[in-house]
Amino acid sequence: MVKAVVGANWGDEGKGKITDMLAEQADIVIRFQGGANAGHTIINNYGKFALHTLPSGVFYDHTTSIIGNGVALNIPLLFQEIKSITDRNVPMPKLLISDRAQMVMPYHILLDQYEEERLGGKSFGSTKSGIAPFYSDKYAKIGFQVSELFDEELLKEKTERICEQKNVLFEHLYHKPAISPKELLDTLHEYREMVKPYVCNVSAYLDQAIKDGKTILLEGQLGTLKDPDHGIYPMVTSSSTLAAFGAIGAGIPPYEIRQIVTVCKAYSSAVGAGAFVSEIFGDEANELRTRGGDGGEFGATTGRPRRMGWFDCVASKYGCRLQGTTDVAFTVLDVLGYLDEIPVCVGYEIDGEVTTEFPVTYKLEKAKPVYEKLPGWKCDIRGIKNYEDLPENCRAYIEFIEKQIGFPITMISNGPTREDIIYRKQ
Ligand code: GDP
Repeated sequence: MVKAVVGANWGDEGKGKITDMLAEQADIVIRFQGGANAGHTIINNYGKFALHTLPSGVFYDHTTSIIGNGVALNIPLLFQEIKSITDRNVPMPKLLISDRAQMVMPYHILLDQYEEERLGGKSFGSTKSGIAPFYSDKYAKIGFQVSELFDEELLKEKTERICEQKNVLFEHLYHKPAISPKELLDTLHEYREMVKPYVCNVSAYLDQAIKDGKTILLEGQLGTLKDPDHGIYPMVTSSSTLAAFGAIGAGIPPYEIRQIVTVCKAYSSAVGAGAFVSEIFGDEANELRTRGGDGGEFGATTGRPRRMGWFDCVASKYGCRLQGTTDVAFTVLDVLGYLDEIPVCVGYEIDGEVTTEFPVTYKLEKAKPVYEKLPGWKCDIRGIKNYEDLPENCRAYIEFIEKQIGFPITMISNGPTREDIIYRKQ
């Protein structure tokens, strides 16, 4: 049984917590896209962790953690991350790395930094972790697969060829020092020694696991609105954030994905530039940001304050539809307990017309939110285990949103820990 855990919006919806929770019943957890540019926050009996590359199942000793072929693999960061958890008494995870995963190279990170510098005020707000240059090279067919580390002749020839090409940019576009093929080759030899024990033909491994009836979780990074095809292009990430891509980024048949849990936060937050229709500002935003998530809405990787907004039914309905949602996990609902009334964005007004369909980017830039206000519940809902025990106004908020987005909310997260979850039968 393969399940996917993905985001409906801009990311930071609480996928880490939901994956960690569902991993209790899983045998294998796989990252299938993205790199170390975003983070998942997880709180469990070992403490509080921000994971960037490792799948959110690493805290259990019964799970195998896999870095799928679709990931942008930064090898030194992966090993730093492993050390950061084992230093805190988490047992060494059972780790497998796809032989087809490609590696983020030191020059990708430099290119990302130099390009953001060159763009100045027109930059994309990249986290400068090399993800966009990495995926550009992958599709330009000049990336390095993990498997290539084990072919010395190929490695030598390719490092020379790539350095020659990259140095044209370094010297003439960015006016920065050239990179040396010898140094790059040495770095790749180090990478080879680091990954050697974990390299695996992941699609063959998963084929067998599926035949053996194992439970497999695909863990997405970011959310629908950051998808390069269906998101707010060009303010998107460089790999597909959709559950469908889980089949490709892990190497399994698409029809094996039976459950798609789309994580939606009870309000909105976003990082980086781009249209954000239900965004709020000033004190209203500061209050929600400070109360939000667990200890405030600040980037798990960058520490940047997140942009804040009210729940957006237009974006979330679209986000859930593109994911192929079977279940919505509605998270961080406990945070809204302080509000007298809660605005919910139910439509976009574009050029005088109201729509509930999420538009293409140039129209999105013109959209103004149409709000409906729902009464707040004015109490702390943490610790509640049964849906019926939630305050009436809180249930009304959930049911209103469920109706607007058109997908069943089957899980409600009312706190950051594994135990803070309410399962709801349909
Ligand atoms: P992800 O990237 O989708 O995994 O999301 P992040 O980890 O960036 O952001 C989610 C934040 O909300 C983290 O700080 C979580 O610990 C926290 N969180 C998740 N679910 C809940 C919840 O139901 N209530 C509260 N208060 N915090 C939550």
